[in-house]
Amino acid sequence: MNGRPLPPSRDLRLVHVDARERQSIVSLRAGGPSFGGEELAICAGPCAVESREQIVATAAAVARAGANVLRGGAYKPRTSPYSFQGLGRDGLAMMREAADLFGLAVVTEVLDPRDAEVVAGSADMLQIGARNMQNTALLRAVGETGKPVLLKRGLAATVDEWLLAAEYIALTGNERIVLCERGIRSFDPSTRNLLDLSVVPLLARRTHLPTIVDPSHGTGIAALVAPMGLAAIAAGAAGIMVEVHPDPPSAVSDGMQSLTFAEFESFMESIPALATALGRRLPQRYVARTPNASPPS
Ligand code: PEP
Ligand code: MN
Repeated sequence: MNGRPLPPSRDLRLVHVDARERQSIVSLRAGGPSFGGEELAICAGPCAVESREQIVATAAAVARAGANVLRGGAYKPRTSPYSFQGLGRDGLAMMREAADLFGLAVVTEVLDPRDAEVVAGSADMLQIGARNMQNTALLRAVGETGKPVLLKRGLAATVDEWLLAAEYIALTGNERIVLCERGIRSFDPSTRNLLDLSVVPLLARRTHLPTIVDPSHGTGIAALVAPMGLAAIAAGAAGIMVEVHPDPPSAVSDGMQSLTFAEFESFMESIPALATALGRRLPQRYVARTPNASPPS
């Protein structure tokens, strides 16, 4: 080693920037959210689906603020086996219903290859969490569903390892893959993770796949989410993923990094000035077909 970074792996065949004529745009459905075009993808919602009331209220709030994808975990990868593990299939159904009420798409995590088809039956995009980035059986299973995949960066993954994980998915014939930078482990406990925004412009040189940024898991601190979300957009991210909860102190998981509805709204209001300067824009707001669609009381 002479102190230079290792050259990129030669096994990056399908996802390599030279494999396509232009950067990919990953669309979740016709006319729906897309990742990689002028329009930003805004994924927002709770860490975990906790109840129907919680997910419907959150879907209403994030849609009103201009998000276009509802995030939330029905299967939760918790550090402790004694922590809440998610509502499973019931959570998936609640999320689908909440998203449909407000014209949102759904992204949610798959933990087990045996659940891939079930999750694909209800979600628009399947998330591979940081802890599973190199679970090759899971990568193949989500790839084979044919649904768009959100591939989060592993806790200590190099860019090459991350892209090779994407290559596993692409090899199933499914190249609708979006990368998500969510911070990596560092020596410094001041933030939960170290959000590596340099990967955003780096990946644009290395792969044709779009990249989004999750400043919630990336910092672990609610007050840092908006500034780092804006920085991610400035760095060229195709979108952001943000945790939002009706009452963060009572959240079953990740309350410290979750925004209130009001905080999310003011963050969203700060985006257009920056986005316009960069030639980007927020998604078009959904106009409810039933004009008074609101959470059931
Ligand atoms: C999540 O987005 O719900 C999640 C668990 O994130 P990560 O895999 O990045 O820790
Ligand atoms: Mn979380």
